[in-house]
Amino acid sequence: MTSKITRRDFLNGVAIGAGTILLMPGQLLAQSAGFTATNKFPSDYYPPTLTGMRGSHEGSYEVAHALAWNGQKPAVYQELDEHYDLVVVGAGQSGLAAAWYYQKKMGPTAKILLLDNHDDFGGHAKRNEFHQDGNMVLGLGGAQNIEPMSSYSAMAVELLKDIGVDDQALAAMTANTPDDYMLGGKISANNGMTIPTTDGHKTLSGNWLGFFHGGQGYEAAVKELPIPEEEQTKLIAFFGGDRDFLDDLSLLEQYRYVKSVSYNQFLTERVGLAEETLPILGAFTSVLLGPAGWSLTVLEALSTGCPGLKAMGWLTNRLSDLAGAFVLGDAPVAYMFPDGDASVARLLVHKLIPDVAPAMKGFEDVAISNFNYAALDLDSNPTRMRLNSTVVGVKETDVNHVKVDYVQQGQPFSVSADHCVLACYNGLIPHLCPEMSKEQREGLSYGVKVPFVYANVLLKNGRAFAGLGTTFTQCPYDPFQWVSAAPTVTSGGYQPPQSLTIQWQYL
Ligand SMILES: Cc1cc2nc3c(=O)[nH]c(=O)nc-3n(C[C@H](O)[C@H](O)[C@H](O)COP(=O)(O)OP(=O)(O)OC[C@H]3O[C@@H](n4cnc5c(N)ncnc54)[C@H](O)[C@@H]3O)c2cc1C
Repeated sequence: MTSKITRRDFLNGVAIGAGTILLMPGQLLAQSAGFTATNKFPSDYYPPTLTGMRGSHEGSYEVAHALAWNGQKPAVYQELDEHYDLVVVGAGQSGLAAAWYYQKKMGPTAKILLLDNHDDFGGHAKRNEFHQDGNMVLGLGGAQNIEPMSSYSAMAVELLKDIGVDDQALAAMTANTPDDYMLGGKISANNGMTIPTTDGHKTLSGNWLGFFHGGQGYEAAVKELPIPEEEQTKLIAFFGGDRDFLDDLSLLEQYRYVKSVSYNQFLTERVGLAEETLPILGAFTSVLLGPAGWSLTVLEALSTGCPGLKAMGWLTNRLSDLAGAFVLGDAPVAYMFPDGDASVARLLVHKLIPDVAPAMKGFEDVAISNFNYAALDLDSNPTRMRLNSTVVGVKETDVNHVKVDYVQQGQPFSVSADHCVLACYNGLIPHLCPEMSKEQREGLSYGVKVPFVYANVLLKNGRAFAGLGTTFTQCPYDPFQWVSAAPTVTSGGYQPPQSLTIQWQYL
């Protein structure tokens, strides 16, 4: 198999570590999830402005937990007089895409229902919207970036182009991303390192992702780290590739070593680093992958861009293909909307259900368009979306039909369909379809989710953060391991307020 494992592949469905965005100023607009047990929302229902725990928020998981943990679900369901060509379980990127492909194949009159247990669509690609003093400040609650069109399959490119994300749009996104905004794809922009000291935290700005791989100025930067001189010397040798740390092994032994030994074991045993130094090399990985260096092989860690490429002799050329371009490349390898990939979800929803934002044009104004959630589930539209609805059973009733049971606001309903796509959590699927085979269950249990927290904090102003000299910093010894200014990008028609700042942190 020659296909490359991209960062997106790693992130896809196997979630990740932790971070924070600080937003300014003050409080967000909070709304209660005051929908009724019918499918209609109150006119002010607008989940992107909700605060508190988003994503798997209270009210979204209880029904699924009762089913998966205790085998409990309603015995009787109110059968709605609704029959669909397709029911999609899950309105994340996969479910939205499934609906798009189905509509594309079957035509615009195909009857499609999307069901999702969250109070908003998008799954991992969620939008956070803040309002203060007449300004809108955008942040994201999950998936961040789009990649170059060349990293997507022909099928995915077809979808992206249809919603307005083509090469021209990506070029505009590059132009709309300030050069100092690392998370927006400007990989050479300053990205700092913040280390606690007895005098408080010390932030060292500079291109630390570059320093990790012997980028210009790495020796001086490492010497600024508040760690023992002996550790600095070892890091300098490691980052700069002064020696091959596996040179006592044969080629075959090297190959077996990098595939079986943990990255942290390699760092302590072969590079000789103290355990206290390891977090400096690990914040990047734990945010991208979830597990720490003790749970990743050397090969897995290096493939994600962890330091060490230059200290691996024969492996360097091989791995630079995988990770070098990501970490060291000058060209942008990621593109960003101000609410991250939530804009992709919005573009898809708009394509499927245009009534949610009748005046919206598409790519050029997706970030600033208000969505009318009441239009998601209208009898008059062929495609409908029903939020706050947890599916608890999917059963073939005969060879051509399927019955889908779900619970909305404590009330059990069922609908019928010709087809059903399960674009929901893999771990739950065996509970929805208990008759599935052992092999299918095993296949579904492959991906394991890791808890991951983003915190968006709205600040009155960005002066203190600006004083760090970087829009992004890694905080390897703190609960939130990445801290960033919120997107300063202007794609999708968005103008970030000049006087306000968001900071964004990954825990
Ligand atoms: C923090 C983070 C950062 C990421 N960054 C990037 C990035 O920069 N670029 C990128 O391309 N990808 C990124 N990803 C990966 C990307 O977000 C995911 O691959 C993608 O969003 C997965 O979409 P999905 O629809 O398969 O799953 P999900 O987004 O998980 O959607 C599944 C949906 O199904 C719903 N659901 C589950 N069970 C039920 C049920 N029983 N009934 C009804 N609904 C149900 C869930 O609530 C959810 O809304 C990131 C992911 C995370 C977590």
